[in-house]
Amino acid sequence: MKFLGYLILAVGLSAAPPAAAEDRLPIFDTHVHYSRDAWSEYSPARIEELFREAGVLRALVSSTPDDGTLKLFRHMPERVVPNLRPYRDGADVTSWSANQEVFDYVSGRLNSGIYRGVGEFHLFDPLEARSRQVRGLVKLAVEKDLWLQVHSGAGPVKALYAIDPRVRILWAHLGMTEPAAVVMEMMDAYPEMLTETSFRGGEIGGGPDGIDPAWRDVMIKHADRIMIGSDTYVTPRWGDYASLVDEHRAWLSRLPDEVARKIAYRNAVRVFGPGRGTGFPAD
Ligand SMILES: [Zn+2]
Repeated sequence: MKFLGYLILAVGLSAAPPAAAEDRLPIFDTHVHYSRDAWSEYSPARIEELFREAGVLRALVSSTPDDGTLKLFRHMPERVVPNLRPYRDGADVTSWSANQEVFDYVSGRLNSGIYRGVGEFHLFDPLEARSRQVRGLVKLAVEKDLWLQVHSGAGPVKALYAIDPRVRILWAHLGMTEPAAVVMEMMDAYPEMLTETSFRGGEIGGGPDGIDPAWRDVMIKHADRIMIGSDTYVTPRWGDYASLVDEHRAWLSRLPDEVARKIAYRNAVRVFGPGRGTGFPAD
């Protein structure tokens, strides 16, 4: 027993042995930021290592400013799916939605053709979605077949769909503050909408069974449209990256394997592609 105790201790302390990678559920992380503050502390090569240590094979990345996304994309083009964030700096977070300069910046930058979406951006109120610029963005997104990754409650999402029901929405953070019942209603109401789990892992994994029953119902019913997200919105979250991802693996392990695999990577691979040589299982 004593030997076993030492063995468990040793395994517990060892830092992500390479052999563990094959045993873990692969993850496609659909909510990564590599913003300015992180650049000096974490090089693109270091971020690649963090992805490897966390078992993250591919990621949807957006950054403030966008140069962070381009740095990571240049370093690992097969692992990074670029998403264009409309924030040139922190001040744009609250004013972008009615700022023509930002709109022109976004539409100009989209000409490079590398982006699969615009976001993550914030809409704090449905009224914000009525601005000329947001309406213009919805039009652009429909024309160019781009996803809009929206951090908002249910109201602004409804307002975006009211502008054009064809718009493709990736609802960030499962609605951030919306309860499971509202997320269920929204997923039912908008059968094309995608969503991702960043910031909600603790809540989803709550309760004695390791998964909250109301969230479990959402995961099972909408297993084809939910994806994993970590949200590295501030630099210290890169220091916790593997545990942010593992928090999701914990509740995923409480779901049927087929459902867990869809949410962990299959849905995101279907939408954004696998990338060459990234190592997703051929299933
Ligand atoms: Zn967010």
